[in-house]
Amino acid sequence: MGIIKELVEYSKLVWDRRLTESTGGNMSVRANNNTIYITPTFTIKHFLEPTDIVMLSIDGEKLEGDKEPSSERKMHLLIYKERSDVNAIFHAHPPYATAFAVSGEKIPINVLPEAVLLLRNIAYLPYKMPGTQEFADTFSSELKKGKDVFILQNHGVTVVGKDLKEAYARLETLEFLSKVVLILKISENKVNEMNQNNIDEFLRQRNIT
Ligand code: 13P
Ligand code: ZN
Repeated sequence: MGIIKELVEYSKLVWDRRLTESTGGNMSVRANNNTIYITPTFTIKHFLEPTDIVMLSIDGEKLEGDKEPSSERKMHLLIYKERSDVNAIFHAHPPYATAFAVSGEKIPINVLPEAVLLLRNIAYLPYKMPGTQEFADTFSSELKKGKDVFILQNHGVTVVGKDLKEAYARLETLEFLSKVVLILKISENKVNEMNQNNIDEFLRQRNIT
């Protein structure tokens, strides 16, 4: 599958699985030649077509596409510039993870093996006006520390990955974990964390130190 088609398919999956709402969120992928393909602004992702995707240079120059690129392109471009290991980015407003973004409470990670694997590097960023350079700049220092998951105060989340599959897996795992934890909180049940030996054993098995 070509990279544009793949971006469209994953973006639709995000919307269809309710990992974002209405026209919220934006997705992008980096091609081998360092060009960026990004979703257009104000789009219900379920209806996205390959011809809607906008091609940008790494410096934000529009190279191809009839539509206006996402208003969050400054954030996407900053992430690609800071991190050569990142080739895909999903910014979304998933309801359960966004509940944590609004409350400011930290999401416990050591609860499920897949969460430990994919969400270890989580950062909490302060509120800044969406779409601005100031908002994009809040990512900078946390990206340098190798963070892959960003909880955005009073806004939503951004996740990055080496490819679209990894970034998507992070987003869905983050939302699944947030939902499980909130169900436990609402039902006033305890969140039982895994013990450190079980976590270490699992990470070792996946060759992660
Ligand atoms: P765009 O529609 O411009 O991509 O922006 C959506 C969004 O989530 C803004 O934070
Ligand atoms: Zn947003």
